[in-house]
Amino acid sequence: MKINRRQFNYGLAGGLLALPLRRIPLQSALRVNGKRIMDHILALAEFGKNPQGGVSRIAYSDADKQGREYVLGLMRAAKLDVTIDAAGNLIGRRQGSVASLAPLLIGSHVDSVPEGGNYDGVVGSMGAIEVAQTLAENNVTTRHPLEVVIFQNEEGGLIGSRAMEGELTEKELDLVSRSGKTIRDGIKFIGGDPVKLGGVRRRKGEIAGYLELHIEQGGILDAEKINIGVVEGIVGINWWDVTIEGFANHAGTTPMNNRQDALLAAAKFIQAVNRVVTSVPGRQVGTVGRITAVLPGAPNVIPGKVVLSLELRDLDAAKIKMLFERIQAEAQKIAAESKTKFDFKEINVNIPAPTDPRIRSIISDAARDLGLTTKQMPSGAGHDAQDMARLGPVGMIFIPSVGGISHSPREFSHPEDIANGANVLLHTLVKLDKV
Ligand SMILES: [Zn+2]
Repeated sequence: MKINRRQFNYGLAGGLLALPLRRIPLQSALRVNGKRIMDHILALAEFGKNPQGGVSRIAYSDADKQGREYVLGLMRAAKLDVTIDAAGNLIGRRQGSVASLAPLLIGSHVDSVPEGGNYDGVVGSMGAIEVAQTLAENNVTTRHPLEVVIFQNEEGGLIGSRAMEGELTEKELDLVSRSGKTIRDGIKFIGGDPVKLGGVRRRKGEIAGYLELHIEQGGILDAEKINIGVVEGIVGINWWDVTIEGFANHAGTTPMNNRQDALLAAAKFIQAVNRVVTSVPGRQVGTVGRITAVLPGAPNVIPGKVVLSLELRDLDAAKIKMLFERIQAEAQKIAAESKTKFDFKEINVNIPAPTDPRIRSIISDAARDLGLTTKQMPSGAGHDAQDMARLGPVGMIFIPSVGGISHSPREFSHPEDIANGANVLLHTLVKLDKV
C-alpha cells in the first residue's frame, strides 16, 4: 500500500495546516459508503424481481444478463478495467504499485435460485465493488493488482469459479441448467466463449488471495447478536444412497416376531444417524433427507426394500469418515436384529475447503479495530471461495441473516451489518496487501 507522505515534507514553512486533512489517505480511517451499497442492492433487485418479493435471477436468464449489465456499469464507475472472461465471469481490474505481484481477488455472485432473496451473493458483490470505489476515491493504490470478480452461475454448481479452477468438464457444458439453456449456450449468452475456457484457468499460486463477503444464511450471528462471522472453512459434503433389503411378505399372516421389515429398519437407522452425529462434540451435521423408495409400497405388504439418502457435513474429512464408520456399525446391529441387509453407495464427495489461518486472524483484527464483535464459524453452505481455496489462500466474512432465512424472498440483512461487512472486507484487503 502506498501512502502519500508528500504533505509531511512541506513542514510548517510550507503551511501544513493549510492542507485539507481529508486528502491524507489515512488507511485506518477509510470507510465504505453504506448508503451507496444499499442503493446498488436495491437497484439490482429490480432485475428478475418477483411480484411476491425477492428475485428469480437464474443464471443465463434475461434477468441475469440485464443484472450483469447493470453490475458492469457499477464496476466501470468504480474505475475498474472491466472484462468478461471466456467462462462469463465479470472481472474488474485495478493496477497495483508492484507489477510483479499476483493479484488479490475479492468478489461473489449475482445469480439467484428461483424465488430467491436480494442478499445472497449480492452483498459480497456490491461490497467488493464498493471497496474498489472507496480505494479509487481516496487515491489508495494497493501493492498487488486488485481484481473484483463476479462469478457466473454460483447457484447452479459454482460454474464460474470451477472454470477458473480448471475443474469444469466438457461433459458438464452439455448439461441443461435451470434457465433451460445448456451451460455451453448459457456461457455464450452472457458473453463468454466456451471454446476458450482453458484460458480462464488459473494455477495454484497465481492468485495472492481471495476474500468473499457473504450473508451467513444461518441464524447464529443474528441470535447471538454478533457483527461478523470469521469463516473457518467451507464444510465437506458426503452423500450416500443407502439400500435396505428385507423380505416383502403378507402383512396379515406374517407374525410380528417373524418379519424382515425394511422400513422398520430404516426408521431405526434414521434415529441411529441422529444419535451418532450428536454423540461427539463439534458442529458436524447428518441428515436423512429423502426416502427414495419403499417397495413394493402397499398397505397390506411388509416393506421388502427401502432406498434412502444419507448426508454428512463437517470441516474435517477425517471426522466425516469416523462418523460414517460408526453409522455403518450401527446399521450392522440393526441389520442383525431385523434380519435385513444394508448397502451403502457413495454418490458425491465435496472435500472440505479450509480458509487461511493468517487471513482469519487479519479479518478478526480488522473487525476488532472497527469496534465489531466476531465469532469463528464454519460455512455449512457451498461458495465460490471453496474453488478459490485450491488456487491460493482464501478468507470469508459473514454478516448476520435475520432469522437465519436464505434462498427465500424473506432473506434480509440490516444495512448497518452490510456496511460493517464491507468495511471489514476493505480493511482486511488493505492489511493483507501489506504482508
Ligand atoms: Zn451465495
